[in-house]
Amino acid sequence: MKNSTNGRLRTGGARILTPPPGPNAKKILARDKKVVSPSYPRDYPFVMERGRGAEVWDVDRNRYIDWAAGIAVAATGHSHPKLVEAIQKQAEKFIHISSDYYHEAMVRLGERINEIAPMKEDVGVFFANSGTEAVEAAIKLARYATKRQRFLGFLGAFHGRSMGSLSFTASKYVQQERFFPTMPGVVHVPFPDPYRPVLDMQAPRSGADYGDAVIDYIERVIFQSILPPDEVAAVLVEPIQGEGGYIVPPPNFFPRLREMCDKHGIVLIADEIQSGVGRTGKWWAIQHWGVEPDIVCIAKGIASGMPLGLMAARQSVMKKWVAGAHGNTYGGNPIACQAALATLELVENGMMQNAAAMGEFIMDALAEMQMRHPSMGDVRGRGLMIGVEFVQDKTNKQPAHQLREDVVHNAFQNGLVMLGCGRSVVRVAPPLMIEKPLVEEGLELFEEAITAAEKKHKLL
Ligand SMILES: *Cc1c(COP(=O)(O)O)cnc(C)c1O
Repeated sequence: MKNSTNGRLRTGGARILTPPPGPNAKKILARDKKVVSPSYPRDYPFVMERGRGAEVWDVDRNRYIDWAAGIAVAATGHSHPKLVEAIQKQAEKFIHISSDYYHEAMVRLGERINEIAPMKEDVGVFFANSGTEAVEAAIKLARYATKRQRFLGFLGAFHGRSMGSLSFTASKYVQQERFFPTMPGVVHVPFPDPYRPVLDMQAPRSGADYGDAVIDYIERVIFQSILPPDEVAAVLVEPIQGEGGYIVPPPNFFPRLREMCDKHGIVLIADEIQSGVGRTGKWWAIQHWGVEPDIVCIAKGIASGMPLGLMAARQSVMKKWVAGAHGNTYGGNPIACQAALATLELVENGMMQNAAAMGEFIMDALAEMQMRHPSMGDVRGRGLMIGVEFVQDKTNKQPAHQLREDVVHNAFQNGLVMLGCGRSVVRVAPPLMIEKPLVEEGLELFEEAITAAEKKHKLL
C-alpha cells in the first residue's frame, strides 16, 4: 500500500505484504476475543483499516479487492465521496429526531422509494434500522391487514435473526438451534433450486419448469394437508435466495406464485434485502420475472452501509394499520436517510448499469473458468449477485463444503475478500461501482484460489 503524505489513499499497488493476520491484526483479534460476542460468524481474520471503492486495506497495510462489500452492503463502494459529503452535511444539521416527529429527508426517501418500488400502485414506507426489522414490519403488517395468522416460507431462506424473522430463516441449522419456540405458524417448502431439485415434476406440462413443481407441491400437498390457504396471511420469499446459496429460481416460479397469492388472497412479500437496490442490474430482482409483490423489504445496499431498513407496501395494504400499530425510536434516522438518497442517485446514474455489464462479464469469465475446473459445479446469478457452487464431481454434484472453505481462505490470503453462502457456494458480490481492472484482477485471484484448493483435494 502506498500512502501519500496528505494521508489520502491511492488505490492499486502491492497486495499482501504480511500474510494475514499480521502483527497489528493479531493484537486486535486478541482484544476482540475478550469483549465481542463469539456468536458472530467470522470465517477469516480480516481486520479493516480503511476502504476506497472496491478496495480495502487491513491494519497491516495489506490491500485486498473487495468482492463481498461487507455482506453485499457497500453498494456504492467504500466511502464514496458523495456519501461522505451527504453524511457530513446532515451530521452538522442534526443527527436525530425520533419518528414521532417529521423531517424532510425521511419524506424525500419515501417519495424516492415510491418512484422506484416494483409495484405500479403507490406505496407507503415504514422506516427501520436493519433487515430483520424490515421483515418484522412486513410480517406484522401482513397479519394486521389480512387478519390471518399463518405464513409460508422457504427452505434455505434467510430473513434475519429476531424471533419473527427467525421463524422463517432456514439456511443453516445453527441459526435455529436452541432458539425454539420462535413465532409459530410458518410452514416451509422447498425453494425452486433448479440445480438441486428435491421434488419430482408430476406429469410435467409442456413449458413447465421446476418453479411449477414447487407451486404444484404447495397447492396439491401443503394446501390440502397442513395449511388452509385462507388462513395464510403472506408468503415471504427472496427473489434470488441469498444466504441459502445465491439461487436463481426458474422462469415460471414467480408468475405462478403471484397467481397463487391472488387466488387465495395471500400477501406476497419480496425480501429484497440482499438482491435489491440495483445489485442484480435492475432496481429489484423480482423485476427479472415481471412480477409485482405487495410488500418489499429493503436494507443492506440501500444506504451503502449506514444502518437502514425499509418496508414498502402497496397503499391498499399499508393504509390498513393505524397510528400506534407499529413504530420505533430510530426510524427515519436523518443521516441514514441522506445516505440512502445519495446511494439511490449514484445507483440510478450509472452504477446499476455497471452492475449489469460487469455481472455479464464475470458470468462469461466464470463459465469459461468452469470448463477448466472439475469442482465448479454451477455458475448462476444476475448482475453482481453471482454464486459459484463447488462440488466433488460434476456428475454426482456432492457439495464440496471443505473445498469451498479452502477457496474462500485461499482468496483471502491472496488479497481477495469473498464470502461463502449455502453449503458449498461462494458469492461474487462486489460493490456496484467495481470497474474492469479490479474485476480482472479478482478473477485471476479467484482462479488461483480454486486451483490451489482443487490440488489440495486431489481434483487436479
Ligand atoms: C441480511 C438479510 C436479512 C437480515 O438483515 P439484517 O440487517 O442482518 O437484520 C434479511 N433478509 C435477507 C435476504 C438478507 O440477506
